[in-house]
Amino acid sequence: MSLTEIDLYQQLKKYFGFSQFKGLQEEVITSIVKGNNTFVVMPTGGGKSLCYQLPALIEEGTAIVVSPLIALMKNQVDAIRSVSEAHGVAHVLNSSLNKTEVKQVKADIENGVCKLLYVAPESLTKEDHVEFLKQQKISFLAIDEAHCISEWGHDFRPEYRNLRSIIKRIGDNIPIIALTATATPKVQEDILKNLGIPDARTFKASFNRPNLYYEVRPKTKNVDADIIRFIKQNSGKSGIIYCLSRKKVEELAQTLQVNGINAVPYHAGLDAKKRSKHQDQFLMEDIDVVVATIAFGMGIDKPDVRFVIHHDIPKSIESYYQETGRAGRDGGEGHCLAFYSYKDIEKLEKFMSGKPVAEQEIGHALLQEVVAYAETSISRRKFILHYFGEEFDSENGEGASMDDNVRNPKKQHEAGEEVELLLKTVKETKQ
Ligand code: ADP
Ligand code: MG
Repeated sequence: MSLTEIDLYQQLKKYFGFSQFKGLQEEVITSIVKGNNTFVVMPTGGGKSLCYQLPALIEEGTAIVVSPLIALMKNQVDAIRSVSEAHGVAHVLNSSLNKTEVKQVKADIENGVCKLLYVAPESLTKEDHVEFLKQQKISFLAIDEAHCISEWGHDFRPEYRNLRSIIKRIGDNIPIIALTATATPKVQEDILKNLGIPDARTFKASFNRPNLYYEVRPKTKNVDADIIRFIKQNSGKSGIIYCLSRKKVEELAQTLQVNGINAVPYHAGLDAKKRSKHQDQFLMEDIDVVVATIAFGMGIDKPDVRFVIHHDIPKSIESYYQETGRAGRDGGEGHCLAFYSYKDIEKLEKFMSGKPVAEQEIGHALLQEVVAYAETSISRRKFILHYFGEEFDSENGEGASMDDNVRNPKKQHEAGEEVELLLKTVKETKQ
């Protein structure tokens, strides 16, 4: 089908019930339908799935979607099935299927019913799957969560490294669509290089979250009291507090409860029943605060989280951005408060010391950026966006006043001292 024959808005309405595209979706979809290799960088919640789902539904053949998480794939397949008449329109191909089920999936691909085939990278490497797919009409290959291909990303998966050679075997000219919410230039470079698509049309949305207020406070031994005071000043509002260890999560949740705050713990050490209970209570507003490890948040879509506190600083700017990104999804206020002490950095360095040297080096470099963020006296928003390769006008940009360094600039003499110190270290290293 040629592009001129397709009314994308009509298709959007028909399959998804939306009347408008979000952000860059229309441009991305047009690029895909034209058969270009396409690279999509959009923050979480930006609407990346639709960028490949819609073209898959309207193009001839089957689109293969590589995704790292079985739960995510199942969700998407269910959603697509609910908007289409044919059950076979979307399938997951993985090792949990029995022979009869695999046969059915393959039949639906052969007879053109299946428009979206979700696979985990390790299923795609299976010889008989590759042999089968080679003979089919494949519209394009979408690699979701494409940052998994990079060691510089927060979720490196070695299986993603084999994708390029498998794709080549399935068909040399199949367009490739890579999608990620990771905005660091290094990871992006890795993705394009590893997938062999330097020519990809790139669509990058802004990562600025103008409604989030960024603040860093020194972490003292009174940090728990500081947190309690903050929550009391924001009583009735929903918030998440991130801690590094399960032990600290438990302790802090208890401390908050003792102080009359409606809080529950959440970490991977709790049994599944308790975890989902706590999560539901938070979503239903029965409780105000979740004290959690990073296990909490994936797929949580509570629009009115009003604050995200980091009791412990995270191990990269990216993690910080993802975790704080859970605040203010509805566009309303979102206060992001991090407690910082260099001791925590040393602790994180120590955790890494058992790891392979290459990993340690990457971990160390990422951590140094966190130190720089915490200690900077420039606009924190500018710092974060710069980290993501984005320019930000710290005077007139959207949300420019929403950070502690801008509202309360460090006093001249303090800033002066910083510069002096910097000059001194430069001198020292030169000697
Ligand atoms: P991402 O993968 O970028 O994190 P998703 O694909 O999960 O984002 O989409 C996030 C949300 O945005 C979903 O609830 C989806 O239904 C919604 N969405 C996507 N496109 C549109 C649109 N054009 N109009 C309204 N909502 C949309
Ligand atoms: Mg997604």
